[in-house]
Amino acid sequence: MPRMIHIIGAGLAGLSAAVELTARGHAVVVHEATAVAGGRCRSYYDNSVGMTIDNGNHLLLSGNRAALAYARAIGAQDRLVGPARAEFAFFDLANREKWTLRFNSGRVPWWIFDPRRRVPGTHALDYLAVGRLLWAPRDHAVGEVIRFSGTLYERLLRPLLLAALNIDPAAGSAALAGAIIRETIAAGGKACRPLIAREGLGATLVEPALDLLGERNAHVQFGHQLHAIRFADEHVTMLDFGKDSINLTDDDAVILAVPPYVAATLIPDIETPNEYRAIVNAHFRMDPPDQLPPMLGVVNATTEWIFAFPGRISVTISAGDRLIDTPRDALAQTIWREVADIAGLPPELPRWQIVRERRATFAATPEQDARRPNARTRYRNLALAGDWTNTGLPATIESAIRSGQRAAEIITHS
Ligand SMILES: Cc1cc2nc3c(=O)[nH]c(=O)nc-3n(C[C@H](O)[C@H](O)[C@H](O)COP(=O)(O)OP(=O)(O)OC[C@H]3O[C@@H](n4cnc5c(N)ncnc54)[C@H](O)[C@@H]3O)c2cc1C
Repeated sequence: MPRMIHIIGAGLAGLSAAVELTARGHAVVVHEATAVAGGRCRSYYDNSVGMTIDNGNHLLLSGNRAALAYARAIGAQDRLVGPARAEFAFFDLANREKWTLRFNSGRVPWWIFDPRRRVPGTHALDYLAVGRLLWAPRDHAVGEVIRFSGTLYERLLRPLLLAALNIDPAAGSAALAGAIIRETIAAGGKACRPLIAREGLGATLVEPALDLLGERNAHVQFGHQLHAIRFADEHVTMLDFGKDSINLTDDDAVILAVPPYVAATLIPDIETPNEYRAIVNAHFRMDPPDQLPPMLGVVNATTEWIFAFPGRISVTISAGDRLIDTPRDALAQTIWREVADIAGLPPELPRWQIVRERRATFAATPEQDARRPNARTRYRNLALAGDWTNTGLPATIESAIRSGQRAAEIITHS
């Protein structure tokens, strides 16, 4: 029998591993517990708004090299769209001040010396402190490394790190924050262009991958939840799916690309992150007015980011655990009041949906970061993938895709 590689989980980590392995000519089967691929990064038809929406707005940056390589590999790079330059529009709801952060392309941050490009109310020297995050020890929180108050913090670092780490930044891992700064702001504007899947996450990052895998004869089996793994000595011998099971030959291999709380039930003695943070998204069926930018950062509000899509306005709130128990309609009202005020729209609530992902990401604290396992396991035919594995990045698309590519590399050489 030819060697078969079983990938468990069709989120972006599993899909990127499958794309990588099939490109190298390996035979692959993907086993997905649910009826759809994409995991935490998916589109679905929503009856409340009467259109296909994403579970949550997902932002990529032009410096996300693994994610962009994956988009190229599946032929979807043109579906990630954004401005030609690294620009971020902001609105302060407390004093109605508007500004646009404009990075210059190169590594030398000239923009911090230009009051028209940097954050209003800040000085060039304020930005030097950000450099401390680049060399932060792994056991430090952001709040132990930089001052978490002041205009630069409130208007730039807090929104940036809150979105990237999905945790109150002061408690977040300084090393993970440093990794984000290193790969974005410190890499220059060419790495900071915001990119959005305008036609939806499914049409951009998921369906083209499934099409490609189909062309390469890789089967994706939906509704096929892995219940248990059998081990002998240093390798996996059987995959138990409850109603059926698969015996592995000596050459076969497995990439486990499931969330951490599932991996912890399948592998003995594995340590994984075990605390999570929520992300709340509100979707409103409404044509965005021309003056609303494709993406707007909002400070001093419940709303954190407003995204303008064709026929829809969507809002993202990170580390949204405090909003999990708020009644849905009250939350929709609060968020729409802010959006309508900012965008100059009528106060009447349009058709809406609130999506609360409770375990959107692992909690990016130094303690949880220290619990992330490496992709290579002590079993010679088993590798781990997922945004929660030890990628050195917070739980993001880039982390998930890098992890999938890394697991593919390990299995290819096992
Ligand atoms: C609302 C929201 C907003 C986000 N915003 C951003 C953003 O703006 N930018 C960004 O970069 N990242 C963002 N993220 C994070 C990003 O979505 C994740 O990092 C990424 O999708 C994780 O992919 P993954 O493959 O590691 O895990 P998952 O997507 O969780 O995939 C795991 C897969 O395994 C399957 N599975 C589970 N158990 C089993 C089993 N026993 N057998 C078989 N299959 C199983 C699951 O059904 C799932 O399909 C956001 C996440 C959320 C929830």
